[in-house]
Amino acid sequence: MSNLQNRFDPHAPDPRTVALHGRESPQRRPAGQPLVTPIVQSTTYAQGEVGGECAHAYSRVSNPTIDELESTLGALESAPPAVAFSSGLAAEFALMLALVKAGDHIVFGGSLYGGTVRLAQQILAPLGVESTFVDATRPERVAEAITAGTRLIFVESPANPTLELTDIAAVSAVARRAGGLLGREIPLAVDNTFHTAVIQRPLDLGADVSVYATTKHIDGHSSALGGAVVTRNEALLTRLRFVRKATGGIQTPFNGWLTLQGIRTLPLRIREHSRNALEAARWLSGRPEVSRVIYPGLEMFGQRELAERQHLCSSGGERLHGGVIAFDLKGGVPAAKRLLASVRLCVLVEHVGAAHTLLTHPATMTHADVPREQRERVGVTDGLIRLSVGLEDPRDVIADLGRAIEASSAIEVTTEGSPAGLQTKQVIGTREVRPCAVTR
Ligand SMILES: *Cc1c(COP(=O)(O)O)cnc(C)c1O
Repeated sequence: MSNLQNRFDPHAPDPRTVALHGRESPQRRPAGQPLVTPIVQSTTYAQGEVGGECAHAYSRVSNPTIDELESTLGALESAPPAVAFSSGLAAEFALMLALVKAGDHIVFGGSLYGGTVRLAQQILAPLGVESTFVDATRPERVAEAITAGTRLIFVESPANPTLELTDIAAVSAVARRAGGLLGREIPLAVDNTFHTAVIQRPLDLGADVSVYATTKHIDGHSSALGGAVVTRNEALLTRLRFVRKATGGIQTPFNGWLTLQGIRTLPLRIREHSRNALEAARWLSGRPEVSRVIYPGLEMFGQRELAERQHLCSSGGERLHGGVIAFDLKGGVPAAKRLLASVRLCVLVEHVGAAHTLLTHPATMTHADVPREQRERVGVTDGLIRLSVGLEDPRDVIADLGRAIEASSAIEVTTEGSPAGLQTKQVIGTREVRPCAVTR
């Protein structure tokens, strides 16, 4: 069976196949066609005749490499070709330019990527677009915030970096009800960067738009910035392409090509990230120095029921919750700083969703431009650490974290305090040889 949770179309092809072939129903390739999409590194294209129609005229408008990227991104969500941009924020900004003008209003979920908050407060507000930030984990708060001028609802689930989930189906119902009263649609956009279509299909849950920083999991190799908007609304697609042509945020052919190469293995990587993160989250939650672990795959996760309902399964039937974990140390900011200074394998960076395991200190990095009071209200405390678990052997990641946590903490650690199967000794010690049969 293909993707187990695709309730809307149980016969939809598995994302592993779509990611490789770029379409839901692949056609036989013409003889001699390259297997890997070529990079068309040309700014412009010969035209047949004055005023004639041609597939491509100028690469700010469209490009054959970007066409392939866009059809693949769309196919992953059973949608028409996406609109690709040079970065995630370029995609977000184009979406907003396509939908709002001075005097309009946007309702944002309260927990968002810091750059999205900066875009709203420091770019859109001076242009006359008003924003309200609400706790989107409570759909009634979204309903209360909608005004006669609301033209867009924008949420992120899981939210960065606190991993709060928004019930996309419930917020979509709110948007439809309010739109019915106002006599026009209020589009719901979901920033699906953390999960990608492999774990979460916002359009199937009633959202109108999925927005991506392809920079993260979709490229996955930390080599290409990029963004995309996916929607099944043809009028909005046309408008987005016009905004892109008019403002110039299209993805470059080379970055588009790198992103395509990343997409080919996206479903496999997401499954592995999810497995590795679950292992690391379980280990962290057994550590005495750690005061809080947030990961949707843990039993203790506050929105467990929603996580099980909203997140998809792999074809093997395991529920996927992504590679990102957030945790707090009992020792607060000083301990967090010591941990971040002590890791060797995990890398301290402003990034997430990569093949390498990454650590971020949101308060001083991704969310440095978000006002402290707003940041703390959504749980981005000074001591919070974001861990993006990569594709290494998770035992090596855990060993590195174990070493760094011990270096960072004044608390005495006892071997008995560790969870079953992951004794501190094993974590720190040398690796024993295991036969294949017992690997995961
Ligand atoms: C990184 C990120 C963005 C912005 O993407 P860029 O490519 O860096 O502009 C937007 N949303 C989320 C959730 C992100 O993680």
